Amino acid sequence: MPNCPECTHREKKKIQEKYESEVPEEERSREDLFKLYDEIDIPMKMDEKNRRNFVCKRCGLYATREQVSDIRYKLNQKERTRDDKHDDYLEWWSKSKKEKAEN
Ligand SMILES: [Zn+2]
Repeated sequence: MPNCPECTHREKKKIQEKYESEVPEEERSREDLFKLYDEIDIPMKMDEKNRRNFVCKRCGLYATREQVSDIRYKLNQKERTRDDKHDDYLEWWSKSKKEKAEN
């Protein structure tokens, strides 16, 4: 059964916050965090009436397997955009500096 993407996402946030509050910055590693993520186990249940659909007992999400991967993908995407924001800003900043210098 697929893990519920919504609940998994929420759980990841909690794990990350806990990890960051317990482990000093210089000792943190992405692998350790991902190992903790692997322990998340929030399987959805198959809908007996419509076996193409899954339902999450925790948050009530009701979706097909395709929708589940779609939601998971979008949530990951959102996360990545947030992480990249800083880099985008830096890029914009150095670009605008360059443009100013050229003019
Ligand atoms: Zn859920």
